Amino acid sequence: MNDSALPEKGPGSSRLVMVGMPAAGHVNPSLPIMRELTRRGVNVTYYTSDEFQAVVEDAGCEFRGYPANTLGPADIAEATRTGGPVRVVARILQATETLLPFLLTDLEADCPAAIAFDSNAIWGRMAAASLGVPTISLMTTIMIGGKDLSGLTSREWFQSVREAVPGVPATRSAKRRVVRRFGKQLYPPAPGLPMRGDLTIFPVPRWMQSANPRIDERCHFVGPTISLEGRNGHPEPELATVLDGPEPLILVSLGTLHAGSDAFFRACFEALAGLPARVLLTIGPHVDPARLGRPPANTLIRASMPQLEVLRRTAVFVTHGGMNSALEGLACGVPLVLVPQQVEQLVIARVITDRGAGVVLRHNLSNRPVPAAELRAAVEHALTDSSLRTAAHAMGSSLGEEGGAVAAAEAIQSFLCGATKHK
Ligand code: UDP
Repeated sequence: MNDSALPEKGPGSSRLVMVGMPAAGHVNPSLPIMRELTRRGVNVTYYTSDEFQAVVEDAGCEFRGYPANTLGPADIAEATRTGGPVRVVARILQATETLLPFLLTDLEADCPAAIAFDSNAIWGRMAAASLGVPTISLMTTIMIGGKDLSGLTSREWFQSVREAVPGVPATRSAKRRVVRRFGKQLYPPAPGLPMRGDLTIFPVPRWMQSANPRIDERCHFVGPTISLEGRNGHPEPELATVLDGPEPLILVSLGTLHAGSDAFFRACFEALAGLPARVLLTIGPHVDPARLGRPPANTLIRASMPQLEVLRRTAVFVTHGGMNSALEGLACGVPLVLVPQQVEQLVIARVITDRGAGVVLRHNLSNRPVPAAELRAAVEHALTDSSLRTAAHAMGSSLGEEGGAVAAAEAIQSFLCGATKHK
């Protein structure tokens, strides 16, 4: 469709509110959908934290920032680092106490046709329940069911329980506070997070989701919505030089929420130093590179990278297997060495390795260091065994088949149409 065929925005066009979870892994897959909706004339007001103002506006949305110090990417990362998913839920509930009244006050005067929310943004769903408007959930990863957990070893079970238990009392009391203050009828029904909506959009391929009783006809799998449009800038000069070098490129990243240990990054030094390759090591904002010692000559360290840009030139991606990173790697036809940091990422890793596009190293899930020799063997295997690259290419080229952002926008638009008719 060309731009002249798009309807004008303004009175008469639908207004959608998007209530975001302020973390790159949640915002990134939502933006191409919002961009497509705004191109089609939908007025989108996107609520998230200030860090995302530029990319939200670049997608054509009106930006509304969460009040300062309520919830931002650093808070979610800190909760992930210090207590995993259970601690994250406690932090979300704590934020709900401020964000729900904030949203309701903001929306009072101008109620939207529907509220879309990230599947973890409890305050968004509660606001919709309070205003009585239809809901759209954006589910940025697969739903994990009991069957997915059956492959855990006893050490992995033990470790995930050990990590979760200390956060349980804080989460329970945060939930009690929210229910007491805003009423049980507004609180999302069991099993809680991640929450579905009247319409639920999964920007992930259908084949990644195992059978799950919570998946019904209101769930739409549209495949990944990956787009370079509006993503973080161009590589700086030193990085650009490395990207242009002749040897194969190995990218290492554990995403934006998990810190990774010094031991892991030192294992990367040891494992990858001797390979005829250039290594880009993303260590995140919480690891001091000085603590790691001098990197090998073939290794460049950065706190973060323009990942999509880098992946387009990458030969092997060592990743934690977050849904976005995994799909971005595959979209670029890159074989993956998966080092999951939590159970959901192991489930993603298994689907990918079952299809031959990666190798998984599970050590972190049972709190064991990844041995440098095993990491090196996995990376060498991914570099030299062409079957992994062939499988990654095949998976990558099928990723657009479910329609991506365009299919998501179509589903949302026809949902909005129905919602407006029944108003
Ligand atoms: N990302 C990036 N640069 C980095 C690290 C991550 O641009 O240095 C982006 C990455 O491309 C992906 C998102 O941040 O879109 C991370 O999402 P993912 O689901 O992989 O992991 P999470 O950070 O949520 O654990």
